[in-house]
Amino acid sequence: MIENLIQRLLSTHKFPGGVHPPQHKAESISVGSVKTEIPARLILPLHQHIGEPAEPIVAVGDKVLKGQRIAKANGYVSAAIHAPTSGTVSDISDYPIPHPSGLNAPCIVIETDGEDKWGERLAVQDWKKLDASALRNIIRDAGIVGLGGAGFPSFIKLNPGASKQIDTLILNGVECEPYITCDDFIMRERSGEIMLGITIMRHALNAKECIITVEENKPEAFQAMTMMAKETSGVKVMSVPTIYPHGSEKQLVQAVTGKEVPANGLTTQIGIVCHNVATAAAVYRAVYQGEPLISRYVTVTGSGVKQAKNIRALMGTPMSELIKQCDGEPASLSRVIMGGPMMGYAMQTDQVPVIKTTNCIIACTAEDVVSEPAVMPCIRCGACAEVCPVSLLPQQLYWHAKSRDHDKAQEFNLFDCIECGCCSYVCPSKIPLVQYYRHAKGEIWADEREKALADIARGRHEFRQTRIEREAAEKAERHRKKKEALAASKKKAAAITATDGKTAAENSGNKNTAIDDAIAKAKAKRLQQGHAHEKAAPENTAGKNKTETSDS
Ligand code: SF4
Ligand code: SF4
Repeated sequence: MIENLIQRLLSTHKFPGGVHPPQHKAESISVGSVKTEIPARLILPLHQHIGEPAEPIVAVGDKVLKGQRIAKANGYVSAAIHAPTSGTVSDISDYPIPHPSGLNAPCIVIETDGEDKWGERLAVQDWKKLDASALRNIIRDAGIVGLGGAGFPSFIKLNPGASKQIDTLILNGVECEPYITCDDFIMRERSGEIMLGITIMRHALNAKECIITVEENKPEAFQAMTMMAKETSGVKVMSVPTIYPHGSEKQLVQAVTGKEVPANGLTTQIGIVCHNVATAAAVYRAVYQGEPLISRYVTVTGSGVKQAKNIRALMGTPMSELIKQCDGEPASLSRVIMGGPMMGYAMQTDQVPVIKTTNCIIACTAEDVVSEPAVMPCIRCGACAEVCPVSLLPQQLYWHAKSRDHDKAQEFNLFDCIECGCCSYVCPSKIPLVQYYRHAKGEIWADEREKALADIARGRHEFRQTRIEREAAEKAERHRKKKEALAASKKKAAAITATDGKTAAENSGNKNTAIDDAIAKAKAKRLQQGHAHEKAAPENTAGKNKTETSDS
């Protein structure tokens, strides 16, 4: 207890800004977690993570078993996708997916058979014999991504590079955003799995120590993790103050270690790697049980459900199914949000599926939406700057983003914004500031992509022009040389003629004489032949007459 107290005292709030929005966590922690019912149909987007979408390795009509890989990672920053239960692939085409764009994207659809029959599983109990690379491959093949909401492939974060020494692995169990309690539940219910996952991660990273961070509004989770950590050397549990956005990676590192991550830098640069507590449990399951990432804890809450709860849901389950499991009526909802109220975004339909990054579903009624206040003009109060955890100037960012002055927005460090939403939360004019920043970032990325494509096209055009000009010059050179050679040969011939003029004239005379002789000889021959013909003519005629008589 004394140790915990010391840890609490040490872990004071050490980053600037932050807010204290109403928690709304009590609603979903009054009952234990429940397992999902297997829905008739699972919709699995190929893009559920940061990086390239996965590539399907099944076809329509294929039978699949639970845990079978159905899409492979496409490139280094990508993640495989596995069948969450047994069934038949009924479609591979575009469906609505959870994404801020609201666009459809390619998905694999499985009609489930209710048998929930596992395929082959390769559990590795003696994983300590494996090197870091082999462990990372298991984690990669299991399709594990950061389950805190970011969705970055976990094996990459377990590979900081041979030159980087990792001193500290920070396990993030802060879960500072209102309404969300899925990490709270996984720490209460699966602390043993998390601890074994930590051991594997430390082995892969060769990390000296691990700090498990839990926000002080989760006493049960803190207790459960502390009990488990007692058995493991080099692991301690730290309770951190309840303030949003304490769970944001850079803010957490600063609060726990006092070290600041360099701007545009990574935590590995200061010898630290952060992972979510649910990710650690997923790593345990992948290694010890050969189980890929096919399910996760999801908090289903909001005024649109009668009983908020945490559901251990299969990936691909339509959100409407989970809302029904919480006694909600999807048809009566005005909005479904994925994520929390600060960083989440509205779904285009309640049919979008649960994916690897779905930590929370908030079902909103018409009253929730009607009670939203109208947006007013900025009054330059400066409240937004006071709460920004990155010490930005949100008001200036807003002006530049609104006027689409992207250069100015970047001068004000737009890309350091972590989109936490603190500025929007406190803004008395209710300006959706984060939406402006997201939009500006999207436009800048689009411009840069377009510029990169234009540069490639311009490069190709310039290369073609250079080639055409070079070929034309070479052709002209060849032509010039040929012309010169011809002129030289003519000149040479003329010189020979001038030198040997007489000889040439004689040769010419002799030549004419020979021709005249030949003509005279031909004439004489023709005359001789004509004479001979006149002599022979009567014999021929007589012969002919004879023949004609006998025929008649
Ligand atoms: S909090 Fe809102 S009203 Fe106040 S300065 Fe910032 S943007 Fe303007
Ligand atoms: S959304 Fe961006 S600008 Fe606003 S408070 Fe958070 S980090 Fe600062």
